Amino acid sequence: MKTYWQNYIDGTWVDGGAGRIDVINPGTGQKIAEHALADAADVDRAVMAAQRVHQSGVLSDLRPVDRGRMVQAMGRYLLDHIEELAEVLTLEQGKPLWESRIEIEGAARYFEYYGNQAETVEGRSIPLGKDYFDFTTYEPFGVSAQIIPWNYPVEMTARSLSAALATGNTCVIKTPELTPLSNAWFANAAEAVGLPKGTVNILCGLGQEAGAALSGHPGVNQIVFTGSVPTGVAIATAAARNVVPCVLELGGKSAAIVHDDADLAAFENDVRWGIYFNAGQVCSAMSRVIVHESVHDELVERMVGVAKSLEVKPGIEQTEFAATMGAMVSEGQRDRAAGMVSAAQGQGAQVATGGRKMNIPGAFLEPTILTGVTPDMTIANEEVFGPVLCVLKFSSDEDALRIANGTPYGLVGGVFTRDLDRATSATRRIRAGQVFVNEWYAGGVETPFGGYGKSGYGREKGREALWNYVQTKNVAIRLKG
Ligand code: NAD
Repeated sequence: MKTYWQNYIDGTWVDGGAGRIDVINPGTGQKIAEHALADAADVDRAVMAAQRVHQSGVLSDLRPVDRGRMVQAMGRYLLDHIEELAEVLTLEQGKPLWESRIEIEGAARYFEYYGNQAETVEGRSIPLGKDYFDFTTYEPFGVSAQIIPWNYPVEMTARSLSAALATGNTCVIKTPELTPLSNAWFANAAEAVGLPKGTVNILCGLGQEAGAALSGHPGVNQIVFTGSVPTGVAIATAAARNVVPCVLELGGKSAAIVHDDADLAAFENDVRWGIYFNAGQVCSAMSRVIVHESVHDELVERMVGVAKSLEVKPGIEQTEFAATMGAMVSEGQRDRAAGMVSAAQGQGAQVATGGRKMNIPGAFLEPTILTGVTPDMTIANEEVFGPVLCVLKFSSDEDALRIANGTPYGLVGGVFTRDLDRATSATRRIRAGQVFVNEWYAGGVETPFGGYGKSGYGREKGREALWNYVQTKNVAIRLKG
């Protein structure tokens, strides 16, 4: 692997005004590369390039089907390079190689889906009587700024980039400091499919410096952010100052309600994917299980079985799908998660399994299950962003919903029961942007996704997300009669 990676601004690979940053393999703790670090001047050049391309009309004036085909081709480019990209993603992020392939396939799917949607963004005519011809159209905002988190650097960039390009916007992407390498393939893809230079700009920089410069740049017309609540607030504040819209996706403390009539054996699979996929570093992770007291012990035994079945080792050794889990993204994140587990024990929670840092090099935390968690505990309210599942008990349906809705977040939720009425009622009452019934992560690229409450606002995925990237224009024409 090359040892130095640059930023991509206006179609050229360039050094960063703020020097370089080390990229560490969390599976070993070893440095694997350096990446150029952008400063505010680099951000300015990238925004200016994107603005120039937008104002030239070279992208926005295209027939949407032609733009859509380029977007689709970017997805195929990712798939054509899946093995080399998966290796880099695993080395910088820690996830198993087989999970990296899933992430890249998911990223390609966004380009397929939004490439297809490009020509569906249609206007409509509004009747105003015979003396007028009136129609509403949708135009791209212009420069879309996208600030990317480290948990799914490829998929998160794909999610916003594909929809932004399909609707005719140009983009400046600020990649995460911990995992900046894999985004290089988007620059390669943009070149390969023939997007004009300056349409896609990709730079890594510190959040406080390059991230803040980008979100506050007066040339930016729309912002997409996924990450923590405090950073989301900073970005929304910057967006408000420039009066530009933003989409915020800020994580959660999402709960599965497991009723006494649920299929407990099937739920093991939800535990495996819901909290241990990507070592729990998923905004919509199933980080709380609220289980009916009558099936609590049986479910805990099953969930502990799932946690113990996972082999934890460096992602690069995990070539094929298996009961495995990789490192967390960094030792800092791992230590933070382990610290939250200890603090929860201090507040009275019990460790049913896991809970400790592993005694091997790298950022490994044991797959963890905490029982005896009560709604007032810190761990029941704050995002761990690691492989830590909290188990809470309930005795009545009301109780379960109150606990589920009892955090400031509201990203997703789940209900597990064979009773259709009970399930339907819960889907109405769970305060979250997406509710799963009997399968955590049911849905796909087609289904809108985003938060209630502190989980953010705006929606990604699905047709709904297209409206983030366009602004409405109404045209009223007075006819001679
Ligand atoms: P973060 O929100 O600080 O960083 C996310 C992105 O925002 C990075 O690209 C970062 O450089 C950028 N950024 C940081 N400060 C900025 C600023 N002032 N202006 C503009 N951009 C800025 O998240 P983190 O520090 O990487 O992780 C901390 C916690 O955030 C995690 O423990 C987790 O709880 C949460 N998180 C959530 C998600 C999610 O998908 N919802 C993803 C990553 C992290």
